Amino acid sequence: GYEDLDSTTAPLPSVSKSNIGQRWSEITSHATKKKVQSWFQLPNGNWELGRIMSTSGTESVISLPAGKVLKVNSDSLIPANPDILDGVDDLMQLSYLNEPSVLFNLQYRYNQDMIYTKAGPVLVAINPFKKVPLYGNNYIEAYKNKSIESPHVYAIADTAIREMTRDEVNQSIIISGESGAGKTETAKIAMQYLAVLGGGSGIEYEILKTNPILEAFGNAKTLRNDNSSRFGKLIEIHFSETGKISGAKIQTFLLEKSRVVQCAEGERSYHIFYQLCAGAPCALREKLNLKDVDEYKYLNKSNCYSIPGVDDAEQFHIVKEALDVVHVSKEDQDSVFAMLAGVLWLGNVSFTMIDNENHVEAVEDESLINVAKLIGCDITDLSLALSTRKMRVGNDNIVQKLTLSQAIETRDALAKSIYACLFERLVEQINKSLAVGKRLTGRSISILDIYGFESFDRNSFEQFCINYANERLQQHFNRHLFKLEQEEYAQDGIDWTKVDFDDNQDCLHLFEKKPLGLLSLLNEESTFPNGTDYTFANKLKQHLNSNPCFRGEREKAFTVSHFAGEVTYDTTGFLEKNRDLLHLDSIQLLSSSSCHLPQAFASSMLNQSEKPVVGSLHKAGGADSQKLSVATKFKGQLFRLMQRLESTTPHFIRCIKPNNFQSPGSYEQGLVLQQLRCCGVLEVVRISRSGFPTRMSHQKFARRYGFLLVENAAEQDPLSVSVAILHQFNILPEMYQVGYTKLFFRTGQIGVLEDTRNNT
Ligand code: ATP
Ligand code: MG
Repeated sequence: GYEDLDSTTAPLPSVSKSNIGQRWSEITSHATKKKVQSWFQLPNGNWELGRIMSTSGTESVISLPAGKVLKVNSDSLIPANPDILDGVDDLMQLSYLNEPSVLFNLQYRYNQDMIYTKAGPVLVAINPFKKVPLYGNNYIEAYKNKSIESPHVYAIADTAIREMTRDEVNQSIIISGESGAGKTETAKIAMQYLAVLGGGSGIEYEILKTNPILEAFGNAKTLRNDNSSRFGKLIEIHFSETGKISGAKIQTFLLEKSRVVQCAEGERSYHIFYQLCAGAPCALREKLNLKDVDEYKYLNKSNCYSIPGVDDAEQFHIVKEALDVVHVSKEDQDSVFAMLAGVLWLGNVSFTMIDNENHVEAVEDESLINVAKLIGCDITDLSLALSTRKMRVGNDNIVQKLTLSQAIETRDALAKSIYACLFERLVEQINKSLAVGKRLTGRSISILDIYGFESFDRNSFEQFCINYANERLQQHFNRHLFKLEQEEYAQDGIDWTKVDFDDNQDCLHLFEKKPLGLLSLLNEESTFPNGTDYTFANKLKQHLNSNPCFRGEREKAFTVSHFAGEVTYDTTGFLEKNRDLLHLDSIQLLSSSSCHLPQAFASSMLNQSEKPVVGSLHKAGGADSQKLSVATKFKGQLFRLMQRLESTTPHFIRCIKPNNFQSPGSYEQGLVLQQLRCCGVLEVVRISRSGFPTRMSHQKFARRYGFLLVENAAEQDPLSVSVAILHQFNILPEMYQVGYTKLFFRTGQIGVLEDTRNNT
């Protein structure tokens, strides 16, 4: 019977990094396998549960559902768990923790709307893509009173509050997963719980209202997710001594700026543009000269204007209300909307050829007039900033005319910068409002909602940064779990140096090493006026080819071995995106504005350039601003983030997307498996198995197996009985450790004893 097996006693067979599907032969050589349940892999890759009818030599006969009987190689069968373990709420409770068993257990629960499952210390959340009856005040109350124990985001948030209070240590809830897996929803569910438990001051209401604002400005419809966050976010929620929420602080990471000027077919730009066009009241429409979305070139190239089930006009009102709640004044709101309209009109600015050298000037039409009006600058200045560039050659200032492609690039760079500044500014303002008199001194719980590992057919600079961040987070994750392990061993007097552990330090080195790492080489090449994506790729190949995590590819590509798998990056656009140049002419244009916001943008851009720089960009030009490269800025942010997280007790939530269609009820095994690998859930299993994952108290062990002893040991103490059992069954000394209170076993060791016990 399994009735008294708890999570620490399950026999856990060995695993390898990429595959935890161990075979029968690796677990047992003697037990009768007849009638035992096994997984059999169908040609389509899915697993089916069958029963072994007989085994002879290397062949087994297995009966599958629907009366199918097959003769198969015994080695292709993977042990399945007894029915009694179906749908356990912690994967660690499974006797056999192989891939099909993990997949089946999650699916079994998912089919009953139990979307949350624990994997040891990690919460796995599978996106239901429909409303599930698991939320709201009754549930919050139940988790608070501990009258429900099933895994839940609420339970994680509850633990975080408790540990914050008990240990006086800041906490973090780290949420990761692919696009569309449910990170942002999960973060909101956690915030909801914290707001109820720590509510009272009213500030919790403001904190919740930051969500619709940030989603409007930072989320967009993509092919993967109708409400995809195009930035990473950390929200730090502060509590007073009495456990009440006292304020909050938001930090954002790497907003995808390019979406402002272009996006893929079927995708949209940021929600706020469509909301503004659909929901602005008449007076505002007139003031901003607003048109319908399909009249703006930045919005009408991707053939997608609406999201099924979403009313943009209604959303606009929700966002406006939220802005009121977080104390963004009507005036400031109006300047925000003016900037948005300015960006849209900027996209409609066109150019005409003025000579036969391809030089252009901006067409003085409605669009140009509107832009000048909306951003509060002189129309001639605007026109010049878009079609010329001031340069310093020796001691002379000269004015260079721009070609069509240069002018378009300049126009788009201005639009992207204005939007990015607007976003940063909003976050700043929200933070001011949530800081409530800077009394953010108490304890805090931070929630991190950040893009998960990405591997597409074509991977660019964005994936490069995102995957680098994930590599850092994975190291944090590994180290934390390893630390938990160590603590338990130390408590029980076990020598934990015998635990093997390999981390992803090599890959991080590849990124961070100076001067010959990916980031340094990228920055170096970005400062060379003549550097191109080609020369960058060649430099990487030249310096990094001996690194085992790196492989140069044909043409401009290279491959990195990430913890979650290999990713091939195409260097096209790397240098330009890393430089992220905004010409001084554009900055000067903004600073000449009669409006407050553009002036503020200009000064924040100028301030940035006064910090230490990677190098002077476009040296030949001389007039361009010097600024930190995007990669350098991101790395700095990431380091500060990691430092902050290091000082907290982390709680991990891994979100999983069960299908690619955003539809309820469909669970694709292959897709789930690949995510379990990428987000480190299988890694948790591996880490906990690289030590002595099976643990049982001396008493329990003696009680459970004592009767197997040949010599009567009824009189002896549990420890002596335990040791006698270990000897009788010839368990090798390196396979176990005897602690003060518990016995610790390597994976699979208990299986032998368990089989003998069950067959006796
Ligand atoms: P991205 O990385 O693109 O931002 P994400 O991981 O943040 O993706 P979400 O936006 O949180 O993904 O979720 C995508 C959609 O899945 C949601 O809009 C919602 O429809 C659905 N969803 C996610 N979690 C839940 C849940 N717990 N209950 C119901 N629906 C959910
Ligand atoms: Mg999101």
